[in-house]
Amino acid sequence: MKDFKDSIVNHYNTDVVIVGGGPAGICAACAAADSGVKVMLIEQYGFVGGMATAGLVAPFMTCYDSSGGTKLIRGLFEELVNRMIAEGAALPPEEIGAPSSFTSYITNGHIHVTPFDAEALKRIAEQMLIERGVKLLYYTTYVSSTVRYNKIDEILIHNKSGFASVSAKVFIDCTGDADVAARSGAKFTVGNGNGKMQPASLFFRIGNVDLSKIEKDIEEHKNDFYRKDGVNYRSFHWHVSRARAAGDWNLARVSIGLFRGVKEDEWSVNTSRIMDIDGTDAESLTRGSIEGRLQVDQIFRFLVKYVPGCENAKLLCSGSHLGIRETRHIVGLSTLTADNVLEGKIPEDSIMVAANSIDIHGKFGPLSNQYVTLPEGKYYGVSFGTMVPKDFDNLLVAGRCISAESDAAGAIRVMPPCMALGQAAGVAAALMTEQSIKAKDLSVSQLQAVLREQNVYLEGV
Ligand SMILES: Cc1cc2nc3c(=O)[nH]c(=O)nc-3n(C[C@H](O)[C@H](O)[C@H](O)COP(=O)(O)OP(=O)(O)OC[C@H]3O[C@@H](n4cnc5c(N)ncnc54)[C@H](O)[C@@H]3O)c2cc1C
Repeated sequence: MKDFKDSIVNHYNTDVVIVGGGPAGICAACAAADSGVKVMLIEQYGFVGGMATAGLVAPFMTCYDSSGGTKLIRGLFEELVNRMIAEGAALPPEEIGAPSSFTSYITNGHIHVTPFDAEALKRIAEQMLIERGVKLLYYTTYVSSTVRYNKIDEILIHNKSGFASVSAKVFIDCTGDADVAARSGAKFTVGNGNGKMQPASLFFRIGNVDLSKIEKDIEEHKNDFYRKDGVNYRSFHWHVSRARAAGDWNLARVSIGLFRGVKEDEWSVNTSRIMDIDGTDAESLTRGSIEGRLQVDQIFRFLVKYVPGCENAKLLCSGSHLGIRETRHIVGLSTLTADNVLEGKIPEDSIMVAANSIDIHGKFGPLSNQYVTLPEGKYYGVSFGTMVPKDFDNLLVAGRCISAESDAAGAIRVMPPCMALGQAAGVAAALMTEQSIKAKDLSVSQLQAVLREQNVYLEGV
């Protein structure tokens, strides 16, 4: 006789458990540990960083308001960036102008991005977690939950050792896809509500790029930029149209996202477009990764043949995880709407502020994007309630899958806001643990006070 329950080989007990070690999960774990509770972080890969490392997504999108005057996202995001800058693994965002090689020559919404080195991020973020006493468990996937009376008692996880269970006082779902919330029975919507999700992209990095030749090409084409309201929106489309006419390009993209990294000759390429992928479906992810690699091959060949400065480029690596922009959005105690974002509304119970633009790929068809930037200097707040799934007492959700309309999620899905959400969730979980209270009973003003002490910018709240 054999029963799979016999495979439960371990049991862990902690105060706060975070599932998912991406940008949100790193900050949730650090913030909870800073508040003095026992923290465990579970991650399916052998390193942290999520899309920033496994997906090779870079740079960190802007952490400033749209005029570039005020740094809005500080706290743990700033700590991580400063530690990386100190090691030459990131460049100071205040020194990065737009348009520039670091922004793929795009102006709008891209002022003060942060170029960084993904390999260094793995180690530096990991050390931030270890120094704080966070128990890391890599190579481990969340499987399921035991839920009783609106409360998660324990979760089932799986790794090479077999199955294990983890009991905790508070659970934070930072999986990007709300895996824990969904499988625990929380309500959620998918994509735009009709199941349509933003397209996927497989990032890749190239080396041996000649910056001076790229800059010369940009200068020669300065009148060819696609511009709206006087600012650059697209770059290198002058080469894409030539390649399409010659039969060397059949992708649903009209331009190239070519972002210079920390090293002058190493650039990130964000150009592939894989439609109709569901990031919560393994078969769909498999199809997307296969299609992504074919697209990477086509884009790389195009760069070498058509883009001056890339003639001798080398393909360094592609993401080990397909870039997923959108899947589930939980239904929370409150929901961030696109109107909130565009009006620059700052609710009283905001736990972070941001000015990131609404960025929806393939919104009106495969070839089109929607990119809406806030008026100069404006920013919006995100309520604590967006991280609290309705009908759950001890579960928080941070990162791109918080309770938000699809268009609003198109704004806060970038890494700096996801990190700010993670920090807020970590502090909230610690307060809930210490006070033995439900998420909905948490004093948001107390949470805000702790966040302010932790260098979180909440001006205007
Ligand atoms: C193509 C593309 C381009 C982008 N461009 C930019 C950009 O230029 N700048 C920017 O700032 N942002 C950009 N973004 C957005 C950004 O990278 C992500 O939205 C952001 O990383 C989300 O953070 P997160 O922590 O919520 O989730 P993720 O980064 O997805 O992290 C989730 C983590 O959870 C782990 N995990 C998931 N499920 C499980 C499970 N069941 N068990 C255990 N572990 C699990 C994953 O391995 C991962 O480490 C881009 C995204 C994409 C896809």
